[in-house]
Amino acid sequence: MKKLALHWKILIGMVLGILFGLAMTSVDGGASFVGSWIKPFGTIFVKLLKLIAVPLIIASLIKGISDLKDISKFKNIGLRTIAIYVGTTVIAITIGLLLVNVVQPGKGISEDTITRLTETYANSGSVQAKIAEASKQKSSGPLQFLVDMVPDNAMKAMSNNKAMLQVIFFTIFFGIAMLLIGEKKSEPLKNFFDSLNEVVLKMVDLIMLFAPYAVFALLANVVVSSNDPDLLLALLKYAGTVVFGLLIMVAFYMVLISVFTKKNPMWFLQKISPAQLLAFSTSSSAATLPVTMERVEEHVGVDKEVSSFVLPVGATINMDGTSLYQAVAAVFIAQALSFDLTFADQLTIILTALLASIGSAAVPGAGMVMLVIVLEAVGFPSDKLAIGLALIFAVDRPLDMCRTVINVTGDATVSTLVAKSVGKLGTPNPKNWDDNYDEVK
Ligand code: ASP
Repeated sequence: MKKLALHWKILIGMVLGILFGLAMTSVDGGASFVGSWIKPFGTIFVKLLKLIAVPLIIASLIKGISDLKDISKFKNIGLRTIAIYVGTTVIAITIGLLLVNVVQPGKGISEDTITRLTETYANSGSVQAKIAEASKQKSSGPLQFLVDMVPDNAMKAMSNNKAMLQVIFFTIFFGIAMLLIGEKKSEPLKNFFDSLNEVVLKMVDLIMLFAPYAVFALLANVVVSSNDPDLLLALLKYAGTVVFGLLIMVAFYMVLISVFTKKNPMWFLQKISPAQLLAFSTSSSAATLPVTMERVEEHVGVDKEVSSFVLPVGATINMDGTSLYQAVAAVFIAQALSFDLTFADQLTIILTALLASIGSAAVPGAGMVMLVIVLEAVGFPSDKLAIGLALIFAVDRPLDMCRTVINVTGDATVSTLVAKSVGKLGTPNPKNWDDNYDEVK
């Protein structure tokens, strides 16, 4: 019998997880059962993915750079990547702004719902924590992000999953120095990192065997910890606007793939679908990164010279889904609380949402922290921030899941475009966890 494709197995796990979660919400003590006995398996899975992220970035980036043979190519890839990332993000924000101004989801929301949402969430620990986190980020100077990118201790950077850009900085620096000492002298290091890279990719294959069960656990937990369905319903128009915008982004990526790479966009989506499903289940582009890299390299055929740089950088700075959401959410809050936004304010939203999405961490809920900064940039009164966030808090998790899918799809699309533009889009060569199993059985 033909083996079921991975994305089907993951999808089945997700559907069963949702059904199980729904069943558990109607059972006494069901939610705490899921929390104690099911959720840990999802947590372990996410930890395993994060565990290999740093070694994978280092090994594959060094392999990518040392295969280059010519540093000027790297500059070429780097500049193209940043330019396309900024371009797609601005398009995403513009789509969000257009939609929210046309649909006006905030206008229809009743006083009663606003009061109920405010009472439920405005003073909750989670909303207050997001505001506090945002004010920490805001107090830094304009060039702070450059300062933060440079580590003062390589080992410390490597031991911190949040310091991904520092690790990338160190590794690129290291890789370029490796190129400069010449092929002969760098050969032992190159062999070492080539082999390390193979090992870590095999670890991804092994971890993915566990994915269908893990998504079951992750989604069952999301369902049992979700909010009052009445509140979710009241925010349907807002959530629908965000989701519709995200769908337009998918269509946009598909057009880009078809026009610039001449590949069938459905084929592309199918190849990266396991990464998208994991992005949805984990709400974290950082946790999904190892799988995105594996899919894009082995299943789409993007050369490591491109993907090893474009994807890790993208996971941290390119968040099209998050920026679209920030634009819609900021205007929605302004509409609901009758705070007038001028045309200039909307332009400010484009700029700040672009910077905010670059600054958002690739972890669950980070987009909402940076939303505070977008709101403050348009002069939203700070004493009303908690009320503003309270309005959208109930649907934040499901929207986070959706926007993370777009963040990951955007990274995969851009890496494929950049690869095509520099002649580095080859034939896919998928590997399985047991390719060499017979030798060691
Ligand atoms: N969860 C998103 C990500 O990891 C970031 C966000 O929008 O909150 O890509």
